[in-house]
Amino acid sequence: MAHFIAMDPLGNLGRNNRCWCGEPRKYKACHGRHYPPSTPGQPIGHPDDEDRVWLSPTTAMARNALRQPSTGIPYVLPLGRPQTRPIDVDPAVQALLDAPRLTTQPLPVLGKHRFEVFDHTGHDRAALTDGIVGIAVAVAQALTELNFQHEHRPTILWNDEVDADRLLGQTLLFADHVCVPDHVFAAIIAGRDDNAIHDAIAEQRRLRPLIEAGVIVPVPEALGIAARVDAANTLTQRDLQRRDLTDWIRSQLIVEGPTAREAMFINTIDDRDSPQMWLYSRQTVFDEDSDGRSTFTSRLPGMYDPAHDYEPWKQQNLDKAVGWHLRRANERLVTGEVFTADYLTTSPFQARLLARKGVLPDQPIHAAVWADIPILPTADPATLARAAAEEEAVEDLRQKVRNALRGARDLGTGADALTALGEELAHASRQLQRTVRTERRWKVMVPAVTGLGAIALGAAGGLPAIASGALGAAGGLVPYFADRSGRRRNAAYLFYLASRTRRPGR
Ligand SMILES: [Zn+2]
Repeated sequence: MAHFIAMDPLGNLGRNNRCWCGEPRKYKACHGRHYPPSTPGQPIGHPDDEDRVWLSPTTAMARNALRQPSTGIPYVLPLGRPQTRPIDVDPAVQALLDAPRLTTQPLPVLGKHRFEVFDHTGHDRAALTDGIVGIAVAVAQALTELNFQHEHRPTILWNDEVDADRLLGQTLLFADHVCVPDHVFAAIIAGRDDNAIHDAIAEQRRLRPLIEAGVIVPVPEALGIAARVDAANTLTQRDLQRRDLTDWIRSQLIVEGPTAREAMFINTIDDRDSPQMWLYSRQTVFDEDSDGRSTFTSRLPGMYDPAHDYEPWKQQNLDKAVGWHLRRANERLVTGEVFTADYLTTSPFQARLLARKGVLPDQPIHAAVWADIPILPTADPATLARAAAEEEAVEDLRQKVRNALRGARDLGTGADALTALGEELAHASRQLQRTVRTERRWKVMVPAVTGLGAIALGAAGGLPAIASGALGAAGGLVPYFADRSGRRRNAAYLFYLASRTRRPGR
């Protein structure tokens, strides 16, 4: 049997414990490796081919990704301190913000409507755009209105990291709604190709039972950011002035490069985001056309030169990476505010950053991510939707969670308490499973028992031994019927449901 270990993202992560990211590896062999994969200028050792160009010994880039937009990319002068550009709001998103509001529809209705749009628009991009954009605006409005339910304000969480399944298993039954980015909306707004849109639709179809139940809510992240863009920019500018914050983020960055191709990758300790990448351009050509317009052209990627001083470039990239992290954190926070949801992170780096910013939410639900709760993380969306619909069992679970978290002072002790509760419930669900297996045997026996009982009752002069045995058995059925209704009020029933159906072949 596996043993469960809760984690405190703000404390030290055990090197021999399973990694926080959920991969079946020890921390020291996964995110616990805090050094760059290659040294500056290290030979790459792979030939380029038609499709890709190697930028480091471990990273290749698609050749067509190297093409630059015809409008060029902005040339940024180093400021010598952490920096980031203000957020760009897409004009299409701005227009949506100003659009008149429709009447509010409940989230499950909008969830069903979403799949009707997918089913009926086919390859008609304009119809799909209309449908999805309309739903995005309506979802934003529905979430805002939920916040006005003062008597029973629902628990709404927001997370934009990709592994929705694990997150859902860990938080779904403690939260009423879990907001995730609407990748279909994002792909449409960004003008992505049909393949990208198709992939985004496929991902939502996989979560269909949960989206139609209104439990998973795909939200238009760009719309949330746009609604509070000034607040997000102000927060970021303020954070950039805080040396304690910027120095700490910088201490968490792992630099790889400059590589043999003059690329630089910056990774972050204990974060989920993929590395940020820069290409160095030294061989810049200056051109002036007949209209007097100047353009700088440069050949990318370059070749590593051991005599060249890359230090100023490296420092500039570090400053940008620091600024990017602060901006991203504030975007996530304001998006949560707009959708009246608590931003929940599953990355220790983000949790530490929020704690240092002084905005780590103290709602106990945030400990759920760091608890090791068995079974639920492996359940499929349909099972999770069915479990979430078991209102009495969900209510019992929430009660148990509240009790378990009563004495918890921080994420770490909260996670410990939830892990213990999870173990207890998993144990109870195994007992339930055994009981149900026994019940199946009883079901087969019921007609026989009834028959025997009838014979026994009809017999004159005392019950034969066999019939009294059968009546004893019939007596045993009473707790079964009593149990069956009681079981559905028990939190362990949710774990039982989830463990019964495992996702096939994944
Ligand atoms: Zn990991």
